[in-house]
Amino acid sequence: MLLQRQVDWVRRSGTDAAPSNLVANIEVANLSALVGMAGSLLLIALLLPLGLIRPIALNLCALAGYALTVWLNRRQHTRISRMWTGGLFLAQALSLTFLLSSSSGANIYLLCGIPVAFLLFAPEEPLTRAGAITLSVLAFALSETRGFHAPVEAITAGWLEAFYFVTLVSLFVGVAVIVERFGTVLNRLEAGQRALAATDELTGLASRRHLLAQASSTLRVALRYGRDFSVALIDVDHFKAVNDECGHLEGDRLLREVTACLDRNHREADLLGRYGGEEFVLLLPETSPGAACVVAERSRRSVESLRLDLGSGPRSVTVSLGVAGLRPGETADLDDLLKRADEALYRAKHTGRNRVHLWRAPDAESPVRVA
Ligand code: GH3
Ligand code: MG
Ligand code: MG
Repeated sequence: MLLQRQVDWVRRSGTDAAPSNLVANIEVANLSALVGMAGSLLLIALLLPLGLIRPIALNLCALAGYALTVWLNRRQHTRISRMWTGGLFLAQALSLTFLLSSSSGANIYLLCGIPVAFLLFAPEEPLTRAGAITLSVLAFALSETRGFHAPVEAITAGWLEAFYFVTLVSLFVGVAVIVERFGTVLNRLEAGQRALAATDELTGLASRRHLLAQASSTLRVALRYGRDFSVALIDVDHFKAVNDECGHLEGDRLLREVTACLDRNHREADLLGRYGGEEFVLLLPETSPGAACVVAERSRRSVESLRLDLGSGPRSVTVSLGVAGLRPGETADLDDLLKRADEALYRAKHTGRNRVHLWRAPDAESPVRVA
């Protein structure tokens, strides 16, 4: 549990303040550092019984180097940290190949630089990506030259074979872990973006886009199965005066208070969203226009009873609401319904504000004032 928390802490290091297109790549740098540390520890464990001081020292330095990656990320040096991680990875593999020879398989790590370069650097960084890939291939070519054929250290052929085996297995496990995490991070980021687009930043309500999408699909269901469906358009009265007298920030605060109050007054199946500025829409599925007026009136009263302490002192606020709806068997599209709610709202405004009006067809009586 504790270890998992530490790993998560390392993984997320530096991602908070990073541009969203690089978050996944920075997480990969942190994860590569973790995988690099695990690999270095494994190699140290293998080298210890052989008493090979130089390769052990090399891996100890690499351990410290990978820790530096996480530190650089925490300090927001995310580009340097990713370049450092790639470079360290290549330097460690090349030095290990030099000490133990290419028969140890340590140079295969160098080719790993190709997929890791794709994961460390975003498509927006094509030159760094190309540079990292070129370096990996060149380092591998170098490791295949004569100078790397015989081990510098005194090591038996049996141990070299053991190294080769461990190298291959750890390499594929390491790359698999990094690729799997990369996919998970991308999914998480995508879900975050979707949630962001569906939420209004100021009030936390459904955004206009999300609200209209929900309204269309709910209305389609209502029309298909002949169910009640209503909408209420809500507008804060004389809001411009609040901005003018108390300032825009206090105006924002009032909007948050009013929306929190409105949000407490409807059923869970209803959806309240910000339509724009100081206008909100309440979708009321399975609700007749008459029942919607009851909800609207309850909301109006609730807002009316709010006492807000704004910069200029205590203040009350009111809203006007226009309601339109469909009874089973009636048809209209969403634009029509919203237009009707807007007409009713217009009536509510022009007959004194702080009231609810229900839209009625022109051949019926004129719009009904509910309260
Ligand atoms: P009415 O009773 O007729 O609705 O009058 P009103 O003053 O509420 O309406 P008007 O359309 O004249 O002004 C709306 C104001 O809302 C103008 C605009 O600057 C302000 N506004 C829109 N969005 C925001 C916001 O996000 N924050 C703040 N503070 N003000 C906003
Ligand atoms: Mg308005
Ligand atoms: Mg207004």
